[in-house]
Amino acid sequence: MDCGRMGKRAWLLSASVVFVLTGIAAPAAGEGDIGAPPKVSWSPEEPKQGEVLHIWVDALEGQSVEAGELLSKPLHFSPSAGKPGRWDALFGIDMAQKPGEYKGSIQVQQPLGPFGEKVTFSIRIRPESFGEERFTIPDKSKVHLSKESLARVKKEKAEISSLWSAEASEKLWEGPFLTPVEGRPGSAFGLRRWINGERRSSHSGMDVKAPEGRPVAAANRGRVALVGDFFFAGKAVFLDHGAGIYTMYFHLSEIQVEQGQVVHKGEVVGLVGMTGRATGPHLHWGVRLGGARVDPASLIGRTEADF
Ligand SMILES: [Zn+2]
Repeated sequence: MDCGRMGKRAWLLSASVVFVLTGIAAPAAGEGDIGAPPKVSWSPEEPKQGEVLHIWVDALEGQSVEAGELLSKPLHFSPSAGKPGRWDALFGIDMAQKPGEYKGSIQVQQPLGPFGEKVTFSIRIRPESFGEERFTIPDKSKVHLSKESLARVKKEKAEISSLWSAEASEKLWEGPFLTPVEGRPGSAFGLRRWINGERRSSHSGMDVKAPEGRPVAAANRGRVALVGDFFFAGKAVFLDHGAGIYTMYFHLSEIQVEQGQVVHKGEVVGLVGMTGRATGPHLHWGVRLGGARVDPASLIGRTEADF
């Protein structure tokens, strides 16, 4: 991030920020200062589809940031570990989010309540030019699904998506997220896919090619939200890091954690394999943030830069 540039931008923003009193009582004469709006900043300045956005609020003394909203989804703020008065939130922009200008809002509690104030801001989301990939899967039953397989996939999809449709749990993650396994880069995030010549879903994670049996580490501290053997994902681990962030580890040869267990950053959750629909041993790792499919590299980059 270019700090000089961000500084200028933040200044412009604080001058144009919309400030609305939502409380019934208006501040009495002489109390004008307590109503000053806090400064809202974010990075990257114009995020792309599939990116992680860091939004922070520099609150004035005594102000606390209660909640916020963007794209009709909640923003989960927590006090910054190293910077007094700062409140941080990470927000996921889904890979298929329509580009454009979107308004968000943040609820700020003033020290001499009961005033609750709403600060609004506007963010431009740019399109990402995801590439394409074409490959062949010889086992046709994994491409043209039987009635039984379709029913199984539907059931598994519902089980998995119930994770992020539930209310976000308490924040467990801390500091930068890690790459779970060392290896060679495989399919990148967001690729539009043709399998056996037919258009299929875009790639919603990042693949790392690594030998079978190599340990796979938890990208950050979290709770094991789900483990299982799924039709496409094979043996898979889903970690809930709190504040709406989930990481996923697919195609494992072995799972080494149990549902409900809290794992620390770097703890082994399983071993690289090629279970489910995979053409060779690799780790598919995915990230959901508030349900949005985001690039794991973006989560690592954002948390390395700002936390
Ligand atoms: Zn993959």
